[in-house]
Amino acid sequence: MTSTFKRVNGTLLLDNSYPALARAVSIIRRGGLVAFPTETVYGLGASATDSNAVNNIFLAKGRPSDNPLIVHISSINQLTNIARDIPETAFLLAEKFWPGALSIVLTRSEIIPPEVSAGLRTVAVRMPDHKVALDLIRMSGVPIAAPSANRSGRPSPTSYRHVLEDLAGRIDAVIKDDDCSIGVESTVIDLSGPVPVILRPGGVSREELESVLKLNVKVSAPLFREGIPSSPGMKYRHYSPKAPLILVTGDETRRMHFAEKIADCYRRKGQRVGILNTFCESGRPDLNRLRIIASRLYRELRILDQQNVDIIIVQATSSGGIGLAVMNRLRKAAARIIKV
Ligand code: AMP
Ligand code: MG
Repeated sequence: MTSTFKRVNGTLLLDNSYPALARAVSIIRRGGLVAFPTETVYGLGASATDSNAVNNIFLAKGRPSDNPLIVHISSINQLTNIARDIPETAFLLAEKFWPGALSIVLTRSEIIPPEVSAGLRTVAVRMPDHKVALDLIRMSGVPIAAPSANRSGRPSPTSYRHVLEDLAGRIDAVIKDDDCSIGVESTVIDLSGPVPVILRPGGVSREELESVLKLNVKVSAPLFREGIPSSPGMKYRHYSPKAPLILVTGDETRRMHFAEKIADCYRRKGQRVGILNTFCESGRPDLNRLRIIASRLYRELRILDQQNVDIIIVQATSSGGIGLAVMNRLRKAAARIIKV
């Protein structure tokens, strides 16, 4: 097939039209890498049943090989091929939250090569809530393994432009669509053990999970089982802008004053200070406000990078709703955390 699609450093820039999706599908089927939009962040997809293709995801991202990928599906029927011994709880959560920002860790079946899960006996599965992602998976006829489509360690991409910034020339194609609506990654919940455990907070909140499961759910990362971390990704420093980030936590009024004081201090030393100033909240956790903060988080970090600031100062948010995911990412991005 000849194409009229633009290329950026050799990477095809596809739109979300049918011919463009058909092109993406043929790339996936022959073992290539396609970045695609989801409601959380852009994913870097390859056929989850092709170990070569999966290895190429790790190479393109510079991702440590012990950090497992999430397998994306378009229909609940695929779940029983990918996982074994699926507990009733998984179907309950899938029914309630899929398609959506919840990845469920289950016992891995043989059709998923060990490379996908970095050798773990488990596999994380998710059905994204995005038409283009679902069409791509359905038309490809295979589950798609996909981590976030950024260079390892960088803030996750919430726009196709971020994907190109990090991966143009390293992957076959990117599907261009609107910016991601949620803006942080999925919640990862482990149902492969005796009790459900949140391994990574994300787009589905702990409170939502607890109200469906009717029990308190522990948040644990990284959690070690059989001597290896059960969510290896959580041990790495992540989501980091180029400039060091200082996270100020503690009492709301004091952290505001302190953040201003350290900003002034750096400015007096002639340094360019970047402030993520959407982080001042007042009173009780305002869940909608936290959703907006989450949706802008990675974009703002990348903007500050482009402004070449020397230092980034961020005030903590509350940890209600998606605030738990925001705080998790800020802690991982931070070079320094100061409690006032
Ligand atoms: P990313 O797709 O880049 O957001 O990374 C996927 C996240 O899911 C990482 O934090 C992984 O450690 C976690 N993850 C993926 N598969 C598993 C699994 N089988 N067990 C535990 N955590 C997983
Ligand atoms: Mg990632």
